[in-house]
Amino acid sequence: MTEFDTHLHDWLRDAHAMEMQALTMMKAQVSRLDNYPELCRRIEQHIDETQAQAERLESCMKRQDTQPSVTKDIAGRFTASMQGLGGMMASDEVLKGQMSSYAFEHFEIAAYNILIVAADAAGDAQTRRLCEEILREEEAMAKWLLDHLGDTTHTFMTRDREDVVAKR
Ligand code: MG
Ligand code: FE
Repeated sequence: MTEFDTHLHDWLRDAHAMEMQALTMMKAQVSRLDNYPELCRRIEQHIDETQAQAERLESCMKRQDTQPSVTKDIAGRFTASMQGLGGMMASDEVLKGQMSSYAFEHFEIAAYNILIVAADAAGDAQTRRLCEEILREEEAMAKWLLDHLGDTTHTFMTRDREDVVAKR
């Protein structure tokens, strides 16, 4: 095993833990969103995509003869729960959530850009291809979140003015 393989294995594990964190975060978000159906549907779509991303990463690790890190996966889930609790306190929870999601998608975009280079260096063309597929999904999600942030803000302000539940 070369040094390049070691980096690839580490970063595949990090990415898997990141996707586990994403799943916990997004599931908590949709379970609380009552008044933002469009946002809810897009997050539900990305939950499905994320589940498939985790499976793709598992297939890459299997081919590389390595496996996800249980410790890292648990740590990621814990961080996600803590972040979820923070968001719940905010009077504009839906907006803070959409901001966090936008930031998280960019964290993922950076991670897959790194993995693509590492997969190349390790000579694993299949991992490179799968990471490119995942990268496109993260970019699409980030774009959607930004494109719809104005709508969410508008709905939030309108509901708040009308004294109906606006925060989630
Ligand atoms: Mg992802
Ligand atoms: Fe994502």
